[in-house]
Amino acid sequence: MSDEPPKLYTGREIVLELFPATPERLVPRPSAFVLERDQDGGIAVLDRGGALLIRLAPVARAPGKMPPLCCDLCSWSGPGTELGFLRADVPGSEGRRWRYLTACFDTAACDARRLDDASVARLLALGD
Ligand SMILES: [Zn+2]
Repeated sequence: MSDEPPKLYTGREIVLELFPATPERLVPRPSAFVLERDQDGGIAVLDRGGALLIRLAPVARAPGKMPPLCCDLCSWSGPGTELGFLRADVPGSEGRRWRYLTACFDTAACDARRLDDASVARLLALGD
């Protein structure tokens, strides 16, 4: 038996090796962002170096029935108990304009389901 540690494969390597006909948009790719849930229920969007790019603050929901929702970051649809509403100020607006979105409470699962960075890049885009 070899003393070398076992080689670890990324999801991208596995898909490309075992499922070469997978459409390009479904092939996992490294993300430029990391999502972290904070203790207030918000989400911090960090770059790979750990620098905070934008913070999404939680938005209180009206009490009562929680219908199913769809995550704006990973497109997963789930029960209203698994997703919440958040908002962030539009970069460059000095806090005068907000962007609202729906996102999963489980940021690790959301990060794993997100196919690309387009949804996060839209949050970071400057306002018109
Ligand atoms: Zn999600």
